[in-house]
Amino acid sequence: MLYDVLIIGTGPAGITAGIYAKRANLKVAMFEKDTPGGQLSKYNEIENYTGAKKVAGYELATMMIDHAYDLDIEVIYDEVTKVEVDGNIKKLTTPNGIYESKVVIVATGNVPRRLGVENEDALAMNGISWCAICDGPLYKDRKVVVIGGGNSAVEEASYLSTLASHVTVVQNLADLTADPKAQDILRKQKNVDFRYSTVVKKFLMDDKGLTGVILINDKKEEETIMCDGVFEYVGLIPVTDMVKDLGIANKYGYIEANEKMETKVPGIYAAGDVIVKQIRQVVTAAADGAIAAQNCLRYLETWE
Ligand SMILES: Cc1cc2nc3c(=O)[nH]c(=O)nc-3n(C[C@H](O)[C@H](O)[C@H](O)COP(=O)(O)OP(=O)(O)OC[C@H]3O[C@@H](n4cnc5c(N)ncnc54)[C@H](O)[C@@H]3O)c2cc1C
Repeated sequence: MLYDVLIIGTGPAGITAGIYAKRANLKVAMFEKDTPGGQLSKYNEIENYTGAKKVAGYELATMMIDHAYDLDIEVIYDEVTKVEVDGNIKKLTTPNGIYESKVVIVATGNVPRRLGVENEDALAMNGISWCAICDGPLYKDRKVVVIGGGNSAVEEASYLSTLASHVTVVQNLADLTADPKAQDILRKQKNVDFRYSTVVKKFLMDDKGLTGVILINDKKEEETIMCDGVFEYVGLIPVTDMVKDLGIANKYGYIEANEKMETKVPGIYAAGDVIVKQIRQVVTAAADGAIAAQNCLRYLETWE
């Protein structure tokens, strides 16, 4: 079967592209390897998506995917491992099959960057987490450490402070870099303290899991903090392995797309957090998805 459009990813970018494509009567399907709704489903609250004053991430994600299901958009729960171009046809490989399409929209987003320090891999999901909304409740009335000082770290630290007995925020720079409003909310919490110009040297563990963290500051002073959980928010890595042979990504892995969301390969579009752009947010990801789908329509008018 030849699809008009195959979309990789069901975050805000992919779902919006799917909605626009379906409403234009295109034969469209979306691939999802994990949770439908993308990153959105994994964080606490969103307060800056137009029209939704304050909404839980999973709630907005559910509204988006429900919208897609209402339109009967096909969702294929599988991981796309490779995208190839064969003349005018694009071939998408998953562990369960090969799919063909006239157009592909890559909307695969990002995954969290890891620190790369001792014992981190051994403790992943066993004391170290990248998702406060998923794992925060495990640390009710316990001590946690949050690594990072940007918006994600500060917002998730505020949420964790409502559950944990104590939160230490560790920032490698001399101050937080999150929005002032988010910083204000966090600084008002009585059970939160901060370490600046400080990084993680090593995670401590016993046979049950994480027991603490050794920090080191810019004066080379070490400090050990005993804790039950660590949440890392130190940046993101674009998910573009499946298109690496197409040469459409820059040296950091982000896909280069123009204002029409076209990549340099005709018929391959990209949208959302995975592209080179200034602001990675739900609202901009959704906008990219709409633009990509509209330009796919134009491309398909001349496809042969
Ligand atoms: C902690 C945190 C807090 C945030 N807070 C806010 C906020 O308050 N407001 C805001 O506007 N934005 C916020 N953001 C940013 C926002 O979540 C992103 O900008 C947005 O989700 C990007 O949407 P996307 O569709 O590009 O990608 P994503 O949401 O990342 O979705 C990509 C999807 O593609 C899937 N996928 C990836 N690779 C494959 C593959 N090979 N095969 C099949 N499926 C694949 C993934 O599983 C995922 O579901 C936050 C992000 C984080 C991490």
